[in-house]
Amino acid sequence: MHHFHYTNGVLHCEEVAIPEIAAAVGTPFYLYSAATLTQHFRAFDGAFADMPHQTCFAVKSCSNIAILRLFASLGGGADIVSGGELYRALAAGVDPGKIVYSGVGKSAEEIRAALAAGILMLNVESVQELGAIQAVAAELKVQAPVSFRVNPDVDPKTHAYISTGLAKNKFGIPIEEAVQVYLTAREMQNISIIGVSCHIGSQLTEVSPFVESLRKVKRFIGRLAEKGITISILDLGGGLGIRYHQETPPQPAEYAAAIKKEMQGLNCTLILEPGRVLVGNAGILVTKVLYIKAGTKKFIIVDAGMNDLARPSLYGAHHGMLLANREEAATEEADVVGPICETGDFLAREKEVPAARRGDLLAVMSAGAYGFSMSSNYNSRPRVAEVLAHGAEFHVIRARETCEQLVQGETIPEFLKAK
Ligand SMILES: *Cc1c(COP(=O)(O)O)cnc(C)c1O
Repeated sequence: MHHFHYTNGVLHCEEVAIPEIAAAVGTPFYLYSAATLTQHFRAFDGAFADMPHQTCFAVKSCSNIAILRLFASLGGGADIVSGGELYRALAAGVDPGKIVYSGVGKSAEEIRAALAAGILMLNVESVQELGAIQAVAAELKVQAPVSFRVNPDVDPKTHAYISTGLAKNKFGIPIEEAVQVYLTAREMQNISIIGVSCHIGSQLTEVSPFVESLRKVKRFIGRLAEKGITISILDLGGGLGIRYHQETPPQPAEYAAAIKKEMQGLNCTLILEPGRVLVGNAGILVTKVLYIKAGTKKFIIVDAGMNDLARPSLYGAHHGMLLANREEAATEEADVVGPICETGDFLAREKEVPAARRGDLLAVMSAGAYGFSMSSNYNSRPRVAEVLAHGAEFHVIRARETCEQLVQGETIPEFLKAK
């Protein structure tokens, strides 16, 4: 469900006509619907309402502080993967007691900031990282709440680049070796063991891999219990997929039902780290058609490129496309390409897309997750604006970058200035 629809032949986000936003902020821009974000959060979080749980939004999927605040206002926490994301979550007003910190490469400075903020827990991914956390916690004279991310070796049946729970992936501690790590942690003075976590991948379109890994984690919790280690938090990560094209991912209710069934008898609070499922279909990228090249092959050249939306180039991802300024039923096979000097710079390649004309506004659908947050300044392109629609209003939640900002922090050393 989302709130992007045609009214009088013009694409709207909630009650706002998208061409009006384009006229006010220019193109390209990301556009999110507050009602859709709210609805997605409520559907997901509400599906777990009858059990102790905490939904921690995966900040990396869409990191704007306005979006983080929206989820926080609905009771959401944050799953972070860097000191920068910690900063964002705190700046957005997320309760530190609802922040979990994942990732294989936390630096001592990042660990220090997280412990100082008093976050819920750090999901530890290696024995060396555990040692680093113990050292920082001792220095700060605090107890570091930790869970260990185990790698259950389950195939999530998704794109290879976003599979994380296979033995060959860099993530987590192999589940067979993890009991020993818990025993090591138990002996450490400033470590308090509170949880077990896992996250097997992204854009999963079936429930079975989640159930399979949860079963493995349950058996693992049993083995820990035999050693006298009790776990109060089970963090199942994120990964629930969305419909981009013809996928048929489970609805949150179906996903929740399967998990709740497996959780019976486990005396644990469940943590969930959804990203894509909350924001993916709540955001679009709006770009303008600059030129059409119609030769043996048709190219629609738009003002957004792979630096603005990397997913098509990076994963061969499919994004639906609609015209925003007019409704166009006719489609044609074309490449939708950006201005970047790379052959891999495309938003669609050999796809059926709306028959576009020069000057049309093209809405690249399902771009809310891993869209703006993955964008870069490649080709010295200022990052685009982000806009949040709310009923009949729209708000710029991130201004378009300026060229001054592009060179901010760069300096020409004295020896070069002389000439
Ligand atoms: C990326 C990530 C998520 C979010 O994944 P989605 O597929 O967007 O739900 C959750 N947890 C961890 C540890 C991650 O790395």
